[in-house]
Amino acid sequence: MQNSGRNSRKTDGVTIPPSYIGRFAPSPTGPLHLGSLFAALASFLQARAKKGKWLLRIDDLDSFRNVPGASDTILKTLEAFGLYWDDAVFYQSHKTSHYKTALLQLDQQQLLYPCICTRKGLIQYHKQRPGPAIYPGFCRNQTIPENLPHALRIRTEDIEISFHDQIQGLYSANIQRAYGDFILKRKDQVIAYQLAVVVDDYHQQITEVVRGIDLLDSTYKQIYLQQKLGLPPLRYMHIPVIVDQLGCKLSKQTFATAVGPKTASFTLHRLLVLLNQSPPEELSKAPVLQQLNWAIENWNPDQLKKIRAISQ
Ligand code: GLU
Repeated sequence: MQNSGRNSRKTDGVTIPPSYIGRFAPSPTGPLHLGSLFAALASFLQARAKKGKWLLRIDDLDSFRNVPGASDTILKTLEAFGLYWDDAVFYQSHKTSHYKTALLQLDQQQLLYPCICTRKGLIQYHKQRPGPAIYPGFCRNQTIPENLPHALRIRTEDIEISFHDQIQGLYSANIQRAYGDFILKRKDQVIAYQLAVVVDDYHQQITEVVRGIDLLDSTYKQIYLQQKLGLPPLRYMHIPVIVDQLGCKLSKQTFATAVGPKTASFTLHRLLVLLNQSPPEELSKAPVLQQLNWAIENWNPDQLKKIRAISQ
C-alpha cells in the first residue's frame, strides 16, 4: 500500500520535501525473513519517528538472482506488518538510464577501466597470498580489446574515506588500500550494487540509510562514488544483524525461515524486543498498528548501541 504524498508540504503550489527520507531496499531473492524484517522495521521506525518519508525500493538489477514472485511477496509481508511505505515502489530495473549516465560521468573523468580478470583466477591468486582479497590491479594499466567480455572497475585513489555512523561511531579507511578498484558493471552486464545504490539514493532524495551492519564495508565504496559523482553525502545508521545458532547472519541464501502474516503481532513484538526497545509485555497480543504506534512514540535507536549481533 502506498501512502501518496504523506509528509510533503505544499506552500504556494511548491511541494517541499520532508527533511528526512529513509528507505528499505530489499533484493527480491526470496521472501522476507526475521533478519530482513528487522532492518525494515528499524528504518521504518526511524523515518516515522522523525516525521519523515519511508520509501520502498526493490533492488532487482541482478536478474540472475531474482526469484519470480518475490517482490510481490515482500510487498504483501510489509503490508501485513503495517509497514506502509510512501510514494510508488521504486524498481531499479526501471531506471537503467540513470546508471548509464553515472557510468558516463565517471568515464569522462577517466575513472573507469575494463577488466577481463576471471573470478576463478582472482580466487586462485588470493589463495596463495595472505591478507585481504583486494583486487591487485592487473588490468588497471592495460589496453583491453573492446570485443573481449569485460567488467568495468573504478580506479580508487590513495585517500581516506571517513563517516560517522550514528550507532557504530566513527569509521575511516583508505579506499585504495582497504578495498582497491571495485566493479561497477559486471562482465554479464549487470550494474553492480555499489553503483546502483548510490545513484538510487540520490534520485530518491534519501537523507539517511538505516541498514544491517553487514553492509558497513560497502559504505566506504558508496561514499567514494558519491564524491566522484558530486552527490550530497548521506547519514548512516548500521544496525546489528540477527544471527542463527551458529552465529551466521540470517539470510535467504541460508534459507532463513520466511516471516508470515498469521503470526504478525507476535513476530513484531519479538522484533521490538530484539531492537532493545523494551515493549510492554501486554503489547504482544495487540494488533500490529497499535504496536507500531507505541514503537514510533518510544523509538530510541541509542538502545541499539548496546548490542552487536543478536541471536534469533
Ligand atoms: N538490497 C540490499 C540487500 O538486500 C540492501 C541495499 C541497501 O540497504 O543498501 O542486502
